[in-house]
Amino acid sequence: MATETFQRSLWSSLAPPAPRTPPLSGSGKADVAIVGAGFLGLSTALHLAESGASVVLLEAEEPGFGASGRNTGFVVPSLRTSLGPTDIRDRLGEHGERLTALVGQSGDIVFDLIRRHGIACSAEQTGWMQPAHSATMMRVLEARQGDWAARGRSVLILDAAETKRRAGFGSYHGALLDPTGGQINPLAYARGLATAALAAGAVIHAASRVIAIDRQGEGWRVRTASGEIRAGRVLLTTNALVGCLNPAMASSVIPVLVHQIATEPLSEDLRRDILPGRSPLADTRRHTFALRWSPDGRLVTGGMVLPGPASLARASRAFLKRLRHFLPGLGTMRADFVWNGVIAATLDQMPRFVELAPGLDGAIGCNGRGVALTTALGREIAGLYAGRIAADAFPLPHGRPEAVPGHFLARHGPALWLPWSNWRDHLESARGN
Ligand SMILES: Cc1cc2nc3c(=O)[nH]c(=O)nc-3n(C[C@H](O)[C@H](O)[C@H](O)COP(=O)(O)OP(=O)(O)OC[C@H]3O[C@@H](n4cnc5c(N)ncnc54)[C@H](O)[C@@H]3O)c2cc1C
Repeated sequence: MATETFQRSLWSSLAPPAPRTPPLSGSGKADVAIVGAGFLGLSTALHLAESGASVVLLEAEEPGFGASGRNTGFVVPSLRTSLGPTDIRDRLGEHGERLTALVGQSGDIVFDLIRRHGIACSAEQTGWMQPAHSATMMRVLEARQGDWAARGRSVLILDAAETKRRAGFGSYHGALLDPTGGQINPLAYARGLATAALAAGAVIHAASRVIAIDRQGEGWRVRTASGEIRAGRVLLTTNALVGCLNPAMASSVIPVLVHQIATEPLSEDLRRDILPGRSPLADTRRHTFALRWSPDGRLVTGGMVLPGPASLARASRAFLKRLRHFLPGLGTMRADFVWNGVIAATLDQMPRFVELAPGLDGAIGCNGRGVALTTALGREIAGLYAGRIAADAFPLPHGRPEAVPGHFLARHGPALWLPWSNWRDHLESARGN
């Protein structure tokens, strides 16, 4: 189903047309072949082409077809709530501080890139707001602010009254506001990155599903049904849609289906009252309540729904109901758009840069934080391949992929996790601690 809803998204209706990227036909050569034109593949291709390397990017469908063209468009310069700078350092040791520095810069990296290439994607660097649904989570956010301050980075803590003023609803304990975050139209951004990469000299082939990657002398042969590319290096950025192309990558993440809705356009009064500063909001609940305005005056929200028949209709009903629960003054309204996409989740919610074989790498698992992080990681991978960044200065370890234990069963984990986390969120919010 995830593949069917691409055209149904709000972003498809608002994005400028995709640049021309004809399918691969015949054979070609490149220094680097990249498989998958999401933000990660596109950012790597753009930065590599800018450094003078020859790069060919092969995409099964079209640029932005995966999670990149379907997400909420939040530019979030942090990892998940449980992963602050100190947690990252504790988990990744020497790489941790470098990853933290990159994550901290990632909002600016996205908006600078958009400005530099004149990408028309309704970009708004209005800050990213994370309200706390409990006193415990408020303390976590305060500690987070201290963690960032110790690294010379300023994020704001808002009290309950200021949070209510900026959200326009709810009774949160306060919030963290990261001024370098914001929002974009993600499909327009993906298409803009593709246009910029083409202008820098990269070659992109859409409708070119890679079906095999074989060793060929010192390098690799990457095959589609209608052609092949010989390349010294290959990077897989296929994320959750990796399928059977590389089972080791596929079993290192859990695919999580996430739905999105966009309401009908709402009145000017509501636009003034709800999120008046247009900062997108994602709270600290386990099943996050996320909300933003679209460029055309719709509220966009979403999350997970239990799997079942006619999921799109159920998702639409479930998220309209959730929206009215948080904003009771909204009254009745319809969802004009419902779509979904798949997140590649890692158990520890950290991204991976893996060596599948010498000269064959994969980057995967930006979880629900991939807008800013993939863009920033793509720049770093390009720097590594171009020799600008030394291997020991890279922000992630470069190990073998590790399978999620009991992967087949773990795939069903998110569905089991949802009722439990909704219940815990509800208890914590009700008790307020
Ligand atoms: C509904 C939803 C909401 C989200 N909201 C946010 C958000 O607001 N903020 C945030 O930071 N993150 C968000 N995320 C996460 C974010 O979208 C992802 O982390 C990010 O887009 C991943 O980018 P990527 O380039 O790694 O992968 P993808 O964008 O998934 O790209 C992978 C590409 O590989 C292609 N591919 C697969 N197999 C092959 C093959 N064999 N040959 C050629 N091509 C192939 C696919 O067609 C696809 O285009 C959200 C995700 C979803 C699903």
